Parts: sequence; C-alpha cells; structure tokens
Amino acid sequence: MNKLKFYAIVLAGGVGNRFQSEIPKQFSLVAGKPLLMHTLSVFDRCPLELEIILVLEQRYVSVWEKMVEHYNFAVPHTIVIGGEERFHSAKNALDIIPDDDQALVAIHDGVRPFVSQDVILQAYAKAKEYGAVVPVIPTIDPMRLYKEERSESLDRFYDRSNIHIVQTPQVFNYKILKQAFDQGYHVTFRDDSVPVEHMGYPIHLVEGNRENIKITFPLDLTLAEAIYPMMFDEQ
Ligand code: C5P
Repeated sequence: MNKLKFYAIVLAGGVGNRFQSEIPKQFSLVAGKPLLMHTLSVFDRCPLELEIILVLEQRYVSVWEKMVEHYNFAVPHTIVIGGEERFHSAKNALDIIPDDDQALVAIHDGVRPFVSQDVILQAYAKAKEYGAVVPVIPTIDPMRLYKEERSESLDRFYDRSNIHIVQTPQVFNYKILKQAFDQGYHVTFRDDSVPVEHMGYPIHLVEGNRENIKITFPLDLTLAEAIYPMMFDEQ
C-alpha cells in the first residue's frame, strides 16, 4: 500500500480590503515577523511530514521572496499563484498535487497563525476516517439574520450551542476534494467544505481552538501580539 501523504495548502492569495493598509494583512508583522511565516512554521512543526503549498497573488511573489531572504526563513514550501476567488486559489494549489487515493489535503487560511497542533492532528486523523473535516467553535453570541430590510433572531429557531463558527484547516481526502473542485465554481463556494458538501458528501466536525483567529481587521493584530506568547513562547 502507498504511504499516506499529507499536504497543507496555505491560502494567502487575497489582497483584502477590510484591513486598510498598503500591504496585505498576511505580510503584517506579528512578534517581529510576517504573520504568514508563523502560519507556515506551525505546519512545519507538525510531526506528520507535511508538504506545504503556499498560494500567493502574482504581484506579491517577489515581496514574499524578499521577506524569505531577509528573515532567513527556512520552512520548505512550493509557491502557487492564486486566482480570482478563494475557490480558484485553492483549486490552483490542488491541481499541482499528484493524483493519489490516499493523500490527505488540508486547506488553511494564511491569516490564521494560531491554530493548535492538536487541532491540526485531529483534523488529519478524522479526515482519514471520514473524508472531510472542518474545525469549529460554538458561538457565544446571539445571532440575528438580516434579510430584505428585516431582521430576526436565530435564537428563536436554533439552540445557540448548535450553531458553530467555521475555522481552518479543513482537511479532505484528495480524491473527494479534487472531484468537488472539478465541479467548477459557484458563488456559494466561499468556504472549502461547501463544494464537497454540494456533491452530497457529509462533513465531519472537530473542535477548533479559540486562539485560531482569522486576522482580518487592524484590531486583530493587537490581539495577535497578545496571543503569540501564549501559543509559542514555551516552544
Ligand atoms: O478574504 P478572506 O479573509 O476570506 O481570505 C481568507 C484567506 O484566503 C486569506 O488568507 C486570503 O489571502 C486567501 N485568499 C486567496 N485567494 C483569493 C481570496 C482569498 O488565497 N482569491
């Protein structure tokens, strides 16, 4: 039997407009280093011998390469150019993975440097068993749905403890993921599990970690500086 192979696709091919800065958020400094380097290092430290594929927007490849040199960044990774939407970026990375029934592929947001090793390992382990895995955390806030200029409480319809916030890495069996992405793009495919679910494949949930924030707004960088020593200082 072939050896089980593990891939991690790290998406950093977006430019984002919620961050209000010259440089995309994935290159902002956290604890003195571009946050994308922290994200790649987390996967590099994983004991599974992952192959890392980093997705960048074409015009930031040389920016990244200069940073790699400047910071002596030694984590091995293959660069792939991103696409129009997240879906296309993930698909471009998926397309360079050799066809393999056994391989497990994680897709992770480059702007989430604080995923725990436990979550990564759980997600791969459960993906081996179930084929498609998404880490989640329960919501603590009440939710309202705003639609057609009206709003209504979701707490009236759902028990809050059953509503979950989706994180990454989402991990899939290669064959299932490839088939899902070969369906082609649909506007609802904003999250990598959606094309898989669209094929009728069930998604298994694992518990995520609350520190695994998606750095999106300038405030998140302040939070990141506070979270960093909690996650990494003992390592
Ligand atoms: O825009 P959003 O915050 O949802 O992006 C999540 C991750 O997906 C980011 O790391 C971003 O760089 C990446 N992305 C991408 N290609 C796109 C859009 C987003 O790799 N076309």
